Amino acid sequence: MHPITHVLIGWTVANCAKLELRDRTWITVAGFVPDVDGLGVIPDILTEGTKHPTYLYGAYHHALLHNLAFGLLLFALTWCFSRRRTLTAGLVFLSFHLHLLGDLVGSRGPDGYQWPIPYLAPFRDAWQLTWSHQWALKAWPNVTLTIVLLMLALHGSWKWGRSPLELVSLRADAALTKTLRARFGPCESI
Ligand SMILES: [Zn+2]
Repeated sequence: MHPITHVLIGWTVANCAKLELRDRTWITVAGFVPDVDGLGVIPDILTEGTKHPTYLYGAYHHALLHNLAFGLLLFALTWCFSRRRTLTAGLVFLSFHLHLLGDLVGSRGPDGYQWPIPYLAPFRDAWQLTWSHQWALKAWPNVTLTIVLLMLALHGSWKWGRSPLELVSLRADAALTKTLRARFGPCESI
């Protein structure tokens, strides 16, 4: 799925419980951080057509961080550094696996490649997870899900005074809430 969709799923999970910003951040980050292994696409684009092109995206995307070992690492780190350790680490594990599930069901490439998830990597090659009914990255279920989650996030900003923007700028987050409440009225009145 698109990274924005992953962020929105992670943030939605993070708001399933009453947690403070630090713990919500861990859970939201767990929702999108596996896709860091796809950043090789940047040098790939920059070196395309040169004498020494790189092929990092194809080599490492899904291969490095889309596996159980990384999920357990996230769980352990969260347990060490979050406030409500067990709950937050549990939701981090869930958020991480919802990322894998999202990729499994809705990340078919334009060339038809399914980008299998090597769940037991780097220790075993077994369990290269795919789903035969997987839809394309830009298919309507992904678009619909993203729109629904975006509406939920905007509703959360209006109602609770926070949105995924809180991860990057508390000022921008507050400005969004202020704008929504100015447009739709104070949350108590709706
Ligand atoms: Zn992914």
